[in-house]
Amino acid sequence: MHIQEFQEMMKTLYYARDQERGIEATFKWLEDELQELKEAINEKDKGSIQKEFADVIAWLASLANITEVNLEKAAINKYNSLCPKCKRSPCQCIFIKAKPAVFDQTP
Ligand SMILES: [Zn+2]
Repeated sequence: MHIQEFQEMMKTLYYARDQERGIEATFKWLEDELQELKEAINEKDKGSIQKEFADVIAWLASLANITEVNLEKAAINKYNSLCPKCKRSPCQCIFIKAKPAVFDQTP
């Protein structure tokens, strides 16, 4: 199964509900599932980690459906065998281990 087929399956299963819930609430569900994935990873529970990855990609597909984005096309357009920044494989960009805490700063 390709990403596009998975997205279409999620559309068949949940599109009506996803559309009624709306983008903002669906985004919140995705955030919750990412938090649950983080917790499963911290607990090193392989079964839970797998289930939470499934939930994250399911909610990502739902969000893509209601924002009318083709996940597979978007991903392949940006990440087509080369790093989108340095255009190399493997990536040769300067390695930054920690993501800068720009969202944590208060004005
Ligand atoms: Zn790179």
